[in-house]
Amino acid sequence: MTGTINLNEQLKHYFGFDSFKGEQEAIIRNLLAGNDTFVLMPTGGGKSLCYQLPSLIMDGTAIVVSPLIALMKNQVDVINGLSEESGVAHYLNSSLNKAAINQVRNDIYAGRTKLLYVAPESLNKEDNLEFFRSFKISFYAVDEAHCISEWGHDFRPEYRNIRPTIQKIGNAPVIALTATATDKVRMDIKKSLGIADAQEFRSSFNRPNLYYEVRQKTNDIDRQIIKFVKQHSGKSGIVYCISRKKVEDLAAVLKANDIKAAPYHAGLDSATRSQTQDDFLMERIDVIVATIAFGMGIDKPDVRFVIHYDIPKSLEGYYQETGRAGRDGGEGICLAFYSYKDLQKLEKFMEGKPVAEQDIGRQLLQETAAYAESSVCRRKLLLHYFGEEYTKDNCGNCDNCLHPKVKRDGKEALLIVLRSLLAVKEGFRQDYVIDFIKGRATDDIVSHHHDQLEEFGAGEDMPPKTWSPVIRQGMIAGYIHKDIESYGLLKVTAAGKRYVRNPQPFTYVEDTDFTDNADEETDDHGAAALDPTLYSMLQDLRRKMARKLSLPGYVIFQDISLEQMATMYPVSIEELRNIQGVGQGKAKRYGKEFCELIRQYCSDNEIERPEEMFVRTVAKDSMKKIKIIHYLDRRMPLDDIASALNLEFSDLLDDLDAIVYSGTKVNIDYFLEDVMDDDQIDDIYEYFRESDTDSIKAALEELGDDYEENEIRLVRIKFMSEQAN
Ligand code: ADP
Ligand code: MG
Repeated sequence: MTGTINLNEQLKHYFGFDSFKGEQEAIIRNLLAGNDTFVLMPTGGGKSLCYQLPSLIMDGTAIVVSPLIALMKNQVDVINGLSEESGVAHYLNSSLNKAAINQVRNDIYAGRTKLLYVAPESLNKEDNLEFFRSFKISFYAVDEAHCISEWGHDFRPEYRNIRPTIQKIGNAPVIALTATATDKVRMDIKKSLGIADAQEFRSSFNRPNLYYEVRQKTNDIDRQIIKFVKQHSGKSGIVYCISRKKVEDLAAVLKANDIKAAPYHAGLDSATRSQTQDDFLMERIDVIVATIAFGMGIDKPDVRFVIHYDIPKSLEGYYQETGRAGRDGGEGICLAFYSYKDLQKLEKFMEGKPVAEQDIGRQLLQETAAYAESSVCRRKLLLHYFGEEYTKDNCGNCDNCLHPKVKRDGKEALLIVLRSLLAVKEGFRQDYVIDFIKGRATDDIVSHHHDQLEEFGAGEDMPPKTWSPVIRQGMIAGYIHKDIESYGLLKVTAAGKRYVRNPQPFTYVEDTDFTDNADEETDDHGAAALDPTLYSMLQDLRRKMARKLSLPGYVIFQDISLEQMATMYPVSIEELRNIQGVGQGKAKRYGKEFCELIRQYCSDNEIERPEEMFVRTVAKDSMKKIKIIHYLDRRMPLDDIASALNLEFSDLLDDLDAIVYSGTKVNIDYFLEDVMDDDQIDDIYEYFRESDTDSIKAALEELGDDYEENEIRLVRIKFMSEQAN
């Protein structure tokens, strides 16, 4: 029958499109012929049509398994919008009431419904089996099929039951579709769905219009993002963060800096979410700050940038998320921020999970880290990850290609790697092999007696950073194969064995060094350079004022505030308030002279102030802060406040410190008087007045015999509040 159908006519008739995209037609013909079909097509490639059109043509109803209830409704509306009759498409999931379910049944039995979208839970539900058996099924479509695999970026256990359920319902052709699949995921999908012989249609995953860049994540990341967004003002973009809290915080910061932004995550109610989604589509909002809950099925063709605030958990996820940029073929900037610290944090999060899951999670993370640190063409790395070879030397559209690093001779190093792999019988993972090459006699290596081998430590004289990039680039060059089926064991390919016998020139590029040491000590202030001359002038001024007011310097401004001033050059009270540790009160009380000094200094030295870079910060945890102040106003005892807010007492003191150090006055006298004598309070108070540091540690050394840490902290709060604010 397929030969006789004019598919172009049907396409035009139902969808109004003039021609098929990519391999759509071949895919559809394969399915129409009754064959199992496997479709790998990047996001935006047009996968839905591959099952929608055949369902309209074929007898019976197609069952479409799809993971997201929200998307189902959307797709069903689209299909029904194409047709004059109603009920051509329906969905079945836990959100439907009885009447709606009856409507679905009636339409199916009447032969009106060609497409039935079901959530995997609904498909697998025992109660529904009878119903699914009672009508003719044209085929099964499994959308977002990577959800089947634990190695994908969105594993959903219910997807694993699809085949057993089909077995119970009755056979029909299966079409599986996904936008991301490594070899491992592809195998998993075929195995789990029982479609080993399915014909595979695989489009290239290359997205030439996407520009990939990875930057070191530093403490001034917010400022970098604000600057980037302002440089692309009026364009649509998405910023992905890992936690909901970060999403909220960053969206607030962007908004405070006059960017039309909104947060989006699964913790928001669905009305808010769909409003945000709408606002984004209608361009009332430029930037969505989101967890990965946002984006699946978002069909906005002109998203111009996708920023990863945190390193993604897998390269599949990264590819999928960046894939939402530039769907129309126009500009699409993909910027990811990477830090080793983040990586460790993510690994830590996994610790509670089952061991097998941790293992998978770690390997996926390692791949992402390797991608981030590599100096090889990002496009080449990504495509290699998805089993595709990218042959051009320079893609011209990623950071590594635009700023190529010098290539190094890696012939010797590659030989060492290959010989080592053979020596340990190709039975180990990269970490093990690198330890072996470096000559590190770990417990694991000793227990395998591999420290006895001649090749053990063959690379100990070379820089330790050699091995990871050489192995990775050896894989890309086809000498080494990572066997994912056996959990990432490194094997030597036939080409690799030939190389050992007959070595060829081999060059590689070193990884980028992303060690975080640079910003370890500089907490929270920008990476922009501190002006040492100005800094010492500010210190002088502070000293002068301190003497005049007979107060310790830190009461006026803390060091960190001076450092920031010497970096950001604030010249008005308004701007000064953006400096860490400077609240309204402080800015007004002490700020004028500092601003004048800075203004004078800037004009004397013709300094261009980074004005547009002035990031307005927003108070973190502002709800908690408001509550605490509210309770204080009601003179609630501090221990009661702590328990009301579910805090340890010392946590509450931390919060109070944060409040007074950011310039807000609080009055805790009513509590102090209850728990301490006036003499004691005065004693500690005087200590702080005389001391040249506000450090609690120093205070304890001086007063520790007489006072508890908490007492000292309480009085310091009173002192800072009265003297500094
Ligand atoms: P995917 O699921 O692969 O990410 P979709 O199925 O959502 O992609 O399709 C992406 C966009 O491409 C949709 O707006 C769809 O209408 C459009 N599209 C699909 N096929 C064609 C075609 N043959 N001609 C024109 N537009 C198409
Ligand atoms: Mg889709």
